[in-house]
Amino acid sequence: MKYVKFFREIHKEDVKLAGGKGANLGEMYNSGFPVPPGFIVTANAYKDFIEKTGIINEMKEVLSKINYDDYDSIKKASREIQALILSEEMPFEIKAEIRSAYESMYKISYDLPKKASEYINAIRTPPFVAVRSSATAEDLPNASFAGQQATYLNVKGEDDLIVAVQKCWASLFTTRAIFYRHKNNFDHFKVLIAVVVQKMVNSEASGVAFTVDPVSEDPNLMVIEAAFGLGEAVVGGEVTPDHYVVDKRTFEIVEKKIAHKDFMIIRDPSGKNKKVTLDEDMAKKQVLSDDKIIELAKIIKRIEDHYGKPQDIEWAKEGMKLYIVQSRPITTLGKRFNKPNYKEHLGEPILKGLPASKGIAHGPVRIVMSADEIDKVKKGDILVTRMTDPDFVPAMKIAAAIVTDEGGMTSHAAIVSREMGIPCIVGTGNATKVLKEGEIVTVDAVDGFVYRGKVDIKPKQESEEEKEEEIDVNKLITRTKIYMNLGVPFKIKDYKDLPFEGIGLMRVEFIIASQIGKHPLYMIEIGKEEEYIDVLANGIEQVASVVYPKPVIVRFSDFKSNEYRDLEGGEKYEPKENNPMIGFRGVSRYISPKFEKAFRLECRAIKKVREKYSNVHVMLPFVRTTDEVLKVLKIMESEGLVRSENFKIFLMAEVPSMVILADEFAKLPIDGISIGSNDLTQLTLGVDRDSDILGEMGYFDERNEAVLRSINRLINIFHEHGKTVSICGQAPSVYPEFMEFLVKAGIDDISLNPDSVKKGKILAWKVEQKLKFERALDFI
Ligand code: PEP
Ligand code: MG
Repeated sequence: MKYVKFFREIHKEDVKLAGGKGANLGEMYNSGFPVPPGFIVTANAYKDFIEKTGIINEMKEVLSKINYDDYDSIKKASREIQALILSEEMPFEIKAEIRSAYESMYKISYDLPKKASEYINAIRTPPFVAVRSSATAEDLPNASFAGQQATYLNVKGEDDLIVAVQKCWASLFTTRAIFYRHKNNFDHFKVLIAVVVQKMVNSEASGVAFTVDPVSEDPNLMVIEAAFGLGEAVVGGEVTPDHYVVDKRTFEIVEKKIAHKDFMIIRDPSGKNKKVTLDEDMAKKQVLSDDKIIELAKIIKRIEDHYGKPQDIEWAKEGMKLYIVQSRPITTLGKRFNKPNYKEHLGEPILKGLPASKGIAHGPVRIVMSADEIDKVKKGDILVTRMTDPDFVPAMKIAAAIVTDEGGMTSHAAIVSREMGIPCIVGTGNATKVLKEGEIVTVDAVDGFVYRGKVDIKPKQESEEEKEEEIDVNKLITRTKIYMNLGVPFKIKDYKDLPFEGIGLMRVEFIIASQIGKHPLYMIEIGKEEEYIDVLANGIEQVASVVYPKPVIVRFSDFKSNEYRDLEGGEKYEPKENNPMIGFRGVSRYISPKFEKAFRLECRAIKKVREKYSNVHVMLPFVRTTDEVLKVLKIMESEGLVRSENFKIFLMAEVPSMVILADEFAKLPIDGISIGSNDLTQLTLGVDRDSDILGEMGYFDERNEAVLRSINRLINIFHEHGKTVSICGQAPSVYPEFMEFLVKAGIDDISLNPDSVKKGKILAWKVEQKLKFERALDFI
């Protein structure tokens, strides 16, 4: 149909067609939320109505005569335009589609012999529907003004429905709406209006719900308010509803306040709302049973997950069924929401920081101030330190949890602990001072708190949706290939069955730091260069052999000078730099006379592994210029690493110079790039990725528009040159919306942390399905 779309045909991007409210309802309907059924009279219907009937010209004329300094003049114009819209006969094509859509809500038209359906249809009566305006003010700062959101409840019968639709259209020209658009310089005819027609739920209970407690702003607590009857009494604030608080992680009801509800609003058979006084027993009764509270809590949590933002929801219950009538983002939450809040019943936490690797653990504190002291960490201890570096890996492997003073979400401690599946909180500021050696603490790295003593925190329950997803993941086929990041070779045995198509980033720093432990130039000095090559090759082989024939992209080492200095013998060879993050690292090292010899050892290790495993390819980190790439390729060539059909060479896109000169880099003799969003964000935004201060203030955020545009540019330009574009930074493992952005942008591969591979695969599949569907709709 041209003018009417059912909810099943509408998604959240369809604001132009369905208005904000309509697009939202379609999206929820299609995502499996229990939205009462309905359809949208699209914005095109309104547009064609005013254009085809020609009233647009009269409307324009009336508007042109308004004196905006005179309220009465605006009011007069409003009346005239509304009268024009209401008195004009709706074109037949539009009417016919609305009638047919309404009929399909209660009449049956298939699967039964003609006689039977005629009989059934004769006894079915048209349902009550809600008719709501849904403005298409997508480019405008405040959507709520545009259509004034006129709503007509309890509309029944085709003729009344047509009138209600026309009334919604007319509501686009209330005095206030006309004035508002004028004041904000918006063209009156650029704002269109769609109309939502939705089955009225004859609710015996209803209310509102917030997925974040709007008062305490505690993101772990959801609030449900419930009263008997229709929702108007609760929304309008006339009745004090029951107030239930549910823990988002456990779905435990943590608070129940049963209110005295003096009356309820019901709908009488003629469709009128009626106030009914409740007797004392009923007034004191809990509106929703505990089971229903939990059922509703699970639904609203899924809605929040779906939108990735806290939601303000209207719900209703008819019989045993719960419905979601409306959901919008909560916009009133302050900055406090961004910081995790602790649960009062657990007592005051002693520390808070960024939950870098999720999980909960308790144990005795071991404060380790330098790598020399790592031996004191025993299995099950809580490793507390200023900041980890690669030398800490042996202790990190056996710790029950890790807590650091410094560091952000992409710091060393964060990356390694995620890979090893150990709970980790970074950037607490002063863990090494506040915590005492040997004391028992509980680390809640789900929310980022440390509590004194052993505190009982229940791990989050798997949602129904996650359980369901468990089953199908191996059958999913996605255009966007999902790879996995890995740095600790022995962990491959735990992750080998995950649904990845290769290792998109194999970091070698962990092998060098924890299995060799010595600076490569020092190894050469003491005549152990073969040993260096062998250990490195063995580590890589450990992974390549398990995943064979899937590819393993090995990144040449990207230690900074401070990290290289910490290796045995490193002091002699490494400069002391003030800003190692933007210092002697990546390709600049490999082509320098100082370090070239060490780089050649890495090349030989790769060569050695490739003699057995041809699935190993390489990647160059921290590329700054095209010249240095050409130089390093020559060195590699002299070591026998020549790019070919079977041996691929990638560059990491981490420095903005590559974004700016993308066309120059794309012409180099390489196979493609992998976006290191950790470094790219650091350098694009000028934010030290390890700064806990900036991290906590929210500055380090890969979702920043500047980073997103850079990524889009890289994808487009490298694709124009026929080169592959992948990503291996941490962002898509952390933010589903970032994953979605990448898939939509057309990236080829996404390499995720092991704990995100499964979810990432499912998400990529879902996004791709949605895109396919949208593209198909474009042809209808
Ligand atoms: C990156 O910068 O995004 C990246 C993957 O490399 P690393 O985190 O090792 O610097
Ligand atoms: Mg990097």
